[in-house]
Amino acid sequence: MTLPQNSAPPDPDCLFCKIAAGDIDATIVHEAETTVAFRDLNPQAPTHVLVIPRSHYPNAAALAEADPATAAHLFDAAREIAAAEGLDGADGGYRMVLNTGPAAHQTVFHAHLHVLGGRQMTWPPG
Ligand code: 5GP
Ligand code: ZN
Repeated sequence: MTLPQNSAPPDPDCLFCKIAAGDIDATIVHEAETTVAFRDLNPQAPTHVLVIPRSHYPNAAALAEADPATAAHLFDAAREIAAAEGLDGADGGYRMVLNTGPAAHQTVFHAHLHVLGGRQMTWPPG
């Protein structure tokens, strides 16, 4: 698949770059030109999908600065995934989370959007 010209090179040590390349298995639920989405290995809700840019950016802030169009594609992919998972009804809903930095509990340093749904969410988040 051809990446946009401003795409960042893959990081050979990055888990999510390896998933995007198909070198590590994941349950892929959505693919688009600039994004890939797969089920979280340790789901925190009945639906827990991670949407990532195919290109490597260490977090959402770096992605938004370098490639805002792809940042927007993450949200569009999330919308399609939520609809496919039946989370978009009038009484439904889903949560999108972008942990950005260690203090926000980011543990994988390739930008990713969590899509969580299928149960009642609470606030404040932990
Ligand atoms: P973070 O804490 O960085 O916001 O989220 C990283 C997420 O990646 C976690 O929810 C974690 O369960 C998930 N994760 C970590 N390693 C793997 C893996 O090898 N495969 C998949 N599918 N998810 C992973
Ligand atoms: Zn990466």
